[in-house]
This record gives sequence, C-alpha cells and structure tokens, in this order.
Amino acid sequence: MNALAQPGPTVRTTCPYCGVGCGVLAQADDRGGAAIAGDPTHPANLGRLCSKGSALGETVGLEGRLLHPMLRRRDGVLARAGWNEALDRVAGGFRAIIARDGPDAVAFYLSGQLLTEDYYVANKLMKGFIGSANVDTNSRLCMASSVAGQRRAFGSDTVPGTYADLDLADLIVLVGSNAAWCHPVLYQRIMRSKTDRGARIVVIDPRRTVTAQEADLFLPIAPGTDTALFCGLLVHLAERGALNAGYIAAHTIGFAETLARARAIAPDIGTTARRCGVPEGDVSQFFNLFYASARAVTGFSQGVNQSAQGTDKVNAIINCHLATGRIGRPGMGPFSLTGQPNAMGGREVGGLANQLAAHMGFVPDEIDRVRRFWMAPRIATREGHKAVAMFEAIERGEIKALWVMATNPAVSLPRAGAMRAALERLELFVVSENVQSNDTVNAGAHVLLPAAAWGEKHGTVTNSERCISRQRAFLPLPGEAKPDWWIASAVAQRLGFAQAFSFRSEADVFREHAALSEFENAGTRDFDIGGLAAISDHAYDALEPVQWPVRAGVPGVPPGEKRFFAAGGFFTPDRKARFVPSEPPCLQEATSAAFPFRLNTGRVRDQWHTMTRTGQSPRLAAHLAEPFVEVHPQDAGRMGLTDGGFAEVSTLHGACILRVMVTDNQRPGSLFVPIHWSAETASCARVGDLVSARTDPYSGQPEAKATPAAIAPVEFALRGFTRTRAALTLPAGTWWAKVAVAEGAEYRLATNQSALVWHDFAYRSLGPDARLAEQLDGPVYRAVAVLDGHLDGCVCLAPAHGSAPQWDLIGLVAAATAEDGGRPIPKPAAGGYIGESEPVVCACFQVGLDAVRKAVASGGATSVADIGRTLRAGTNCGSCLPELKRIIVDERIAHPL
Ligand code: SF4
Repeated sequence: MNALAQPGPTVRTTCPYCGVGCGVLAQADDRGGAAIAGDPTHPANLGRLCSKGSALGETVGLEGRLLHPMLRRRDGVLARAGWNEALDRVAGGFRAIIARDGPDAVAFYLSGQLLTEDYYVANKLMKGFIGSANVDTNSRLCMASSVAGQRRAFGSDTVPGTYADLDLADLIVLVGSNAAWCHPVLYQRIMRSKTDRGARIVVIDPRRTVTAQEADLFLPIAPGTDTALFCGLLVHLAERGALNAGYIAAHTIGFAETLARARAIAPDIGTTARRCGVPEGDVSQFFNLFYASARAVTGFSQGVNQSAQGTDKVNAIINCHLATGRIGRPGMGPFSLTGQPNAMGGREVGGLANQLAAHMGFVPDEIDRVRRFWMAPRIATREGHKAVAMFEAIERGEIKALWVMATNPAVSLPRAGAMRAALERLELFVVSENVQSNDTVNAGAHVLLPAAAWGEKHGTVTNSERCISRQRAFLPLPGEAKPDWWIASAVAQRLGFAQAFSFRSEADVFREHAALSEFENAGTRDFDIGGLAAISDHAYDALEPVQWPVRAGVPGVPPGEKRFFAAGGFFTPDRKARFVPSEPPCLQEATSAAFPFRLNTGRVRDQWHTMTRTGQSPRLAAHLAEPFVEVHPQDAGRMGLTDGGFAEVSTLHGACILRVMVTDNQRPGSLFVPIHWSAETASCARVGDLVSARTDPYSGQPEAKATPAAIAPVEFALRGFTRTRAALTLPAGTWWAKVAVAEGAEYRLATNQSALVWHDFAYRSLGPDARLAEQLDGPVYRAVAVLDGHLDGCVCLAPAHGSAPQWDLIGLVAAATAEDGGRPIPKPAAGGYIGESEPVVCACFQVGLDAVRKAVASGGATSVADIGRTLRAGTNCGSCLPELKRIIVDERIAHPL
C-alpha cells in the first residue's frame, strides 16, 4: 500500500506499458491505490484501456519498493545509505575507472520505461561529458530493427503515418504482431475498421495468435521467411503494373537492383509459397488484396524486429510501400508498432548507442553540432556498444562500470544466464530501481538508487505515432525516491559538470531537448519540436498530447500535415528514399538432432515485461498464471508430452521447466514460450536464459524468435499450491510459480518430495505462530494454518496426474479453530478454498473459462454480445473479446447444436 497516498484530484497521465500510449485518468485513493479510467480526450485511446491499463490502480502499492539508497557492504549485505554517500560512491567509482581505463570502460543501460527527460540527461552525460557512446537501452531488444530499416530507407528514424491511417485503410496487414494482446487498444481500433468499414485484415505470423484468428486471411509462414514473402509481393506488384513509376522516379533510388534481387529470391507466387511454407492460393490472395488496395497499411512489430535479419525484413516491407507510393497519405504506409511506452522518446534523445541525440548520428558535422549545443568537453565521436555487445564487453572485462536504469537485463537479455555471471565481474554496478529485489539487483549490484515510479514522476513520453504526451504524478514520492533525471544530474554535478546539469525541473530538461531538436535544423532532420523550446513551466504542466513535428516548414510535410513523405522529402543528402535490396532469407542457427525445434518467445495478454508491476495485480495474474510452453499436438505426441504436464525446454544456453500447453495454434516444429517470469516469480522459467545472442548486423537486435531448442517431458508425483502471507523457502527440487492473490501470495507447486517433507514445510513455514491442522489421505496432503481465528495459510498437494481436486478446507479449518479456542469457523471462500482455479478470461469482471464455456454450451450465448449480457465478460476493456470469440467457435465444434 502506498501509505503516503491521500485521496487526490484526478490527474491526466499516460499508461506505462505499451507503445499505443493511452491517456489515463488517475486518482489516488485513501487506501494506497488509485482509481483508473481511460482519458476520453486522449487521441491515442479516446477513453479506452486494455486489461493491463485498467488494472494500474492495483500496482501502485509500496510492498517491495526500494525507498532508500542502498550500498553493498564488504560482507556482501546491502545496507541503507544517505543520498550523498550513494551519489559520491557512484561518481567516485565512475571517475576512478574512467581515469584509469578511459571512458569506454563504463556504460549505461537504459530503458523504454524511462521518461524522455530521464533519457535525455543520462544520454547527455555519457555521450557529451564522459565521452563514450556506451549508452544503450532495452529498446534494442524491442524495435532496433525498425530504427535501422527506417534509417536505411528514409535517412531518418521516421514513422511516416498516424493511427488515423488504421481508420482509413482498406487493407491492414499485420506482420509478426500479436496486436490483440500486445497493442490491445490499437487492435480494437483495427477491428472497428473491419466491422464499420469492411477493412480487410491479413495476419502474417508463424503462430496462430488470437490476432490471427480474426483475420480475413492468415499466413502462418515458416520462421524467418518474411523477407521472401515481401520480395514476392514486390515482384507481383511489378508484374501487374501496380508500381507508382512517378513516385519511384521522383523520390527514390535503387529500385531496379532491389526488384532484381527480389526476383532472385521470390520470382513467382509458387516459389514464394514454397519458401514461406504456406499454400500458394493464400499467397495469391494476399498479393491480390495488396494489389487491389491502394489504401494499405502494413503494421509490424517484434515478430519482424527480433530477428538476425530484422532490418532486412523491415526494408522488404518498406520497399513495397515505396514502390507503390503508398506512404504518407491517408490510410497507407508502413507502420512500426512500438513495444514500449517510451521507446520512441528514447530514440528522440539518442538513447541508442548508434545515435547521438535528436535523431542525429555519428557523422562529423552532427557530432560537432551536438558538441557546440551542449558545450560538451568530451563528446563521443563514434558509436558505442549495442546491448548484446555491451554485455559481452562486460563478460570480457572491458567494461568495468555499469549503471542500469529502470530495466531488468538479468532476465530479458539473450543468454541471460551468462550475462548475469558477467554482471558479477563488474567493479562498479549501479542500479536505479523501483524495487528492492529483482534478478538484476540480485546479480550483485553494489549501489541501489531508489527511483520514482509511474504515478510519482513527471515528464513526457512519445507513442508509436509520434505523439508526445505528459506523464503526471498523482502520488507523492515515497521514502527518499527521486526522479531519474535528478539522479543522473546529481551524479553529473559530482563529476564536475554542474553548469551543464543544473536542471531544476523536468520542464527545464524538456526545453533543452526541444531546443536541440531545432538547433541548426534547416529541414535536414525529421525530429523537430522547436515549437516547444520556449514552453513555460505552466504550459509544460498543461501540455496537451502533441504529434511531432512541432514546427512549420519541415520538408516533405505540408503545414498542418502530420504524415511524412507523401511528396518525398526524405532525410537523405539527395532527399530521396533508398530501396534496399534484400538478402536471401535464412536463420543463422540451424536446428540439429539435439535441438530440433525452433523456440519462439513473446508476451501474454495481461503481463508486462518481467512482471515487477503487473505481477502485483491478482486480476491480471488470473489469466495465465503459470509459465508455459505451447507445443503442436503432433510434436507433443512424438515427444511424450501431455497437456497440463511439465516439460524441460532447453537450448545451447540454458533450460526452463514449464507447463505444457498442447495447441494446434503452434506450427509443428515450433515452440512458444512467454518472456515474463523471473527468479522472483518462478523456480525455472527465465526464458532469456534460453535465447540465442545472434544479432542483426545492422540493428544489433538479437534473434529472439528462432533459437534451436529441445523439449522433453518432466514428471512430478504431486502438484498443488500453497498460500501464505510470509516469505517462503520451499523444499528443494520444488517447481513453483508465484501468483498474486488478494492477500499474500499463492505458489503453484509440483514436487517429487514426500508428504513428510511437506509436513515439515507446513510446520516450518506456516506454523510458528498459527494453529496447524493437517490431513493425509492416501497421496493427498493438506494443511491449514489458523491465526487469530483466520485462515492464515495452507498447503495442498495431490497426485500430478488427473484433474485438480476441489480443495474444500473447511473441515480442517474447523479442527484448527477448535484448538485455537473454539472461535467461529472462518469462511475461506464460498464452498471451500480452491487453489488451482480455472483460468480467467475476462480480467475486468473475473469471468472464468468454465463459466464462458457453460454459457455457450447451454445454447444461451451464441455471440460475444450474448456473453456480455449474461456474464458481463468483454464489456469493459474488451481485451478478452478475441478469446471469447475463439471459445464460442471451439464450443460449437465440440458441441454442435
Ligand atoms: S493498449 Fe493497454 S497497455 Fe497499451 S498503452 Fe493502452 S492501456 Fe496501456
């Protein structure tokens, strides 16, 4: 609970999760939480929120928060320190290492969760004043291939279109994007375009996601073949006379070579279909749809970006739009759907190691321009290490000091196990964080700096359509937490750069950032918000969402127009776009007899990144509560896997043990695992440990979708759960996954330990102050702990095979209560206490899968509208609507009327 919170005014802010950038109305309540609603005036969402955004009020508590600076003592224990002591340690450590080993011996690793102002100050400090470009960000893992592809084609990292194009398009192609779960509010906008205007939807993805199930056409292409598909499309468009010869001639170069290369890769529909592993008729249908739809938007996301050929994939898509001139006009264009809330803001300030600042790079005149603007004494003159290379440099001992801000690389990096080991080699390891404990902090951080969290800090973020919005605080800063821009400035001042880092407020930082964007920018750079450079504090406080460019006269952008490139005006020296010839599609690592599967990774609907925020919400936990692996039924049969059982998924780099989900949504030969679980939330489910560190040669983005992998069944004798308010030490060898519940925590369990071991556990972990009652009924073991007349904890285990029992604990609670002085029997839950509850489909109204199935099977509900009327499911945020539709179809197949 946020103990300092008081009921306050309603504040307009933005959601801290995905790149849709929804506006949020937030009001602190008097219980330490917050009332949350969509902001009806925000252009990104017009009042809508998805399940994650709707649950934000459950995630602002202070449990587990880092509230004070901490320093690791000689004995290895982290101990509270004052800000001065902590900042001196950071500045002194960096100064000594830089003096001894040079500026490239230190690095910052930032985050798409930082606000633009935080990002700006950190980037300025490292690149302008320390003199290294070793600043990278978790955005490298998310959308760096889009940046590289756009820079290759446009000469700038420009998203040409706007969300309004999704309302105007006749064809929306989603490539490598499970938008229904990862960009839910935007996805619902796409669905409205389909329903209201008849827009056609094509989904291209190796996996049949919930997004795919509502498409007019789904192309389940083989992993890594996106480039072949779009080369085939380019050839098809050329042969059918769909090229825009005028646009190609006036505004581009390199078309002939690009078309020739496309012909070599995918000369016809048949070859394209074979290379992609999909039916020829479906490829033909897609090509015909694209040919016939002048208003076509191609949205792409991590399925394209997270690839060792991600940049080529992006360019193959852009090539088709440039060739048809379908760019920058209403309802058309390539559209990068950004994963993180402020990846775009990070790109604007230069938060990537191969950018400098304000969309400038490491070319001599831009280095000189930024140097003069910052009056920088030691500006970096070459690119720094991108994320994977940065951590490999730490592994080699070349980088000796690292400052991580607002991210959890010990979980999310590829080859994460090796990366954690590397972190332990650092001479100085600083972490700015919201939480006291996560896998990165626990990898040996020497200094912890308490950073302000969402709801406590002010600043700006930029969403996928270049719209800058304010995030505003509605909670007081807890403990000694400080905004990241303040912390970075304080360290800079201690390093001797007081004048350049004398920011007094977020508005101060923003004004400088805006001024740099227009500095000597005679239309040569796309990013220009010079119109905001003189914004007053008051106007900054009141800033409405504003889409850049915020300045008249940007070439290629008519006054008042927010789209780029309809009339050319690209940001290359000759103002022409570049067609980029594709390389033949290939996956860098081959499967083998030892690792015959392709491991795909991704997100689930109701969790975000490593769950440090969403993992606190009971209603979000109820959707998919345990880490799992999706397997095709053929593969499951071959490998001896059963739905609901357990499997070890392994690669060259590591192994996880996950629940098995058998589904024909998966391609044979492919596995899918979600990325969210860490050592804080599961015993053995840190998927980053498995992922290959092979990277794209242009973007440096790692291949996270196709690591060669193996899978084998794992047997447990018992499974069940335990609930407790206290921290637990579970018996050795226990498989567990932690699930947020209303009070305390629930741990889902699987074990080969005997009931005797669990009896000891119950007495040790549940019993010290409580009354315990337990029961052993054959292999079924249950124990309850009653404290002051209330059920305080329990542990329940039953044979792993067979359906989970309905755990009615009332009799046991009565026995324990009798020993506790005969107080009234507490009621744990209506009808008993059920541990392994059914999955919840609708997070907003907590409607479970069984309830929806029953409503459909009874014949009473034949549509999502019927389900909404009878159960309310799907009537609030709408994130579950695709799943409700799928359940209706599945039930109709299983139980035809
Ligand atoms: S779609 Fe959901 S997660 Fe994304 S910004 Fe909107 S409310 Fe947040």
